[in-house]
Amino acid sequence: QKNYPPCMRIIVKETDLIKLKQGSLFLVTCIGGTLGREGDHSVLIPDINISKYHARFVYDEIKKQYQVIDSGSRNGTFINGKRLSVAKQESEPHEIMHGSIIKIGGTKLLCHIHNGNETCGYCEPGLVQQNINLNENKASKTKLYKEELRRLKHKFGIEKDNISSSQLATGYQDRAQARRQHVGSSDPHAKTQQSSIHTSITKDNKGFKLLSKMGWSEGRSLGKDGDGRTEP
Ligand SMILES: [Zn+2]
Repeated sequence: QKNYPPCMRIIVKETDLIKLKQGSLFLVTCIGGTLGREGDHSVLIPDINISKYHARFVYDEIKKQYQVIDSGSRNGTFINGKRLSVAKQESEPHEIMHGSIIKIGGTKLLCHIHNGNETCGYCEPGLVQQNINLNENKASKTKLYKEELRRLKHKFGIEKDNISSSQLATGYQDRAQARRQHVGSSDPHAKTQQSSIHTSITKDNKGFKLLSKMGWSEGRSLGKDGDGRTEP
């Protein structure tokens, strides 16, 4: 079985160009390729900050690696943040690794190196586009959520600017207090049991249970001689 040399896949990761779509894919094979602003290039990027003939790619058969050479561009070629050469001076060949980022002008290119015609989720055109769409969806969802939150805050008047101490003082309604008054006065099923000296407490009362546990039974008085009250 023949072992095919690797291919380099160059994906547009970020760009400030309207004409160039994020996720666009360029292919460079072991015969090499060129990058430039206009003309016949394997990587064509229509950016005014990129030279017409900006850089070239070669495959080193001995080192078995892809390399990039700046062709003496005005604004330079950056690989993983490092500029290859000063303006208008051709650079030495620089190794491109799988995952290297090449920046030229306002565009960042992600380089993937795979054997033969293999791809991965990051450099398969359909999947690259899908990932970008997913990210955009995620971003817009977060934005929607924030907008909704702001709307709700505004509706309930809890936006930072709206809060002042005077508003809190005059507008504050003690709903718990209102409920206590309401429940206490008219609701016959109110949970709170008020004790009174006129009625004995019921058998499910906590104190009743406690006294029962300690040996007291209803009707008997408290105290060691049995002369205390007969009702708790
Ligand atoms: Zn890949």
